[in-house]
Amino acid sequence: MKHYDIPLVPGPTTIAPEILAAYGHDYGSSDLEPEFHALYRETSAMLGEIMATRNDMVIALGEAMVVLWGTIKSTIGPGDRLLAVSSGLFGAGFADMARAVGADARVVEFPWDEVPDPDRVAAAAREYGPTLVTMVHCETPSGTLTPTEAVGKRLREVAPDALFAVDAVASIGGAPLDTDAAGIDFCLLGTQKCLSVVPDLGIVAVSARGWERVERVGYAGYDALAPFRHALERHYFPYTHSWHAVGALHAACRALLDEGLAASHARHARVAQAWRDAARELGLALYPRREADSSPTVTALRLPAGLDWPTLDARLRARGMVVGGNYGPLAGKVFRIGHMGSQATDDLFTRGTSALKEALRG
Ligand SMILES: *Cc1c(COP(=O)(O)O)cnc(C)c1O
Repeated sequence: MKHYDIPLVPGPTTIAPEILAAYGHDYGSSDLEPEFHALYRETSAMLGEIMATRNDMVIALGEAMVVLWGTIKSTIGPGDRLLAVSSGLFGAGFADMARAVGADARVVEFPWDEVPDPDRVAAAAREYGPTLVTMVHCETPSGTLTPTEAVGKRLREVAPDALFAVDAVASIGGAPLDTDAAGIDFCLLGTQKCLSVVPDLGIVAVSARGWERVERVGYAGYDALAPFRHALERHYFPYTHSWHAVGALHAACRALLDEGLAASHARHARVAQAWRDAARELGLALYPRREADSSPTVTALRLPAGLDWPTLDARLRARGMVVGGNYGPLAGKVFRIGHMGSQATDDLFTRGTSALKEALRG
């Protein structure tokens, strides 16, 4: 398999050897051993700090999508309404998921190179009366960061009963998000972006009223949230958990908190600014219309005229660098540099910009 020396995809990100080492340990049975429960509890507490929430933590086995689906299926069904705030691919995806489970859905749509406007979201919520509002903190394909606390505050004013779920998969750890101040009932996170672990766990911070809804809906299934509510106190998880995966996540959270959350956010902001400045110098246009809407974890750039994505991708790969292509309407038009978690470094920036400069020259 080919190894790239300049890994800059927007997830899965590079895993540090000391984190990867957690998978090589021998563990007992996670079902039965108090040590696993202690590990899960400690990891949950660290995640609470990282996500700025006092809410309960669910750490489920599976890639981040497991908690996106699990949250949708656990909270809505036929007759319920979901309002999907969308300024990109993942935002609109929640409406598709809602319809797939038989619920009604409406999308409040914003241009993909912009971020949602809190007042327009509030007006849509007031009119539609949704059970659940969904939004995405970092729209990874667009390289934007949504003003989540501002939207959350407006929602609480106009639709106090609507539950609020936010996909913060590609931002938490690299960009500040105050889950509790934003009034987020389901804050969704994965391991393979800013936490830089294997894509094997999905995380949700669930509020008290979020749990009430989950109990009322009563969804049962592999991705159901409900069994996690009392898993720790009853020492009963819905399946044999991966001690290896939770062990690695624990190590990654420890490393992040040792660096310091504010320091990590500052590192991401600094590296992102350096990437945007360098791209401008290379004559590349930022995809977000306003630079201020850019995410500190990923930079989305327009492909320059006369250069197609397969050619640029091949030229970069020939220089040992791999970046992200794109999906849907952005495919072949916008490419992405992922500087999240382990990839938000000055060294990767220096080597990456020099490879990009050469690749653009041909
Ligand atoms: C990466 C990511 C996910 C997880 O989705 P995959 O495509 O399966 O990796 C969910 N939401 C956002 C915003 C992401 O960036």
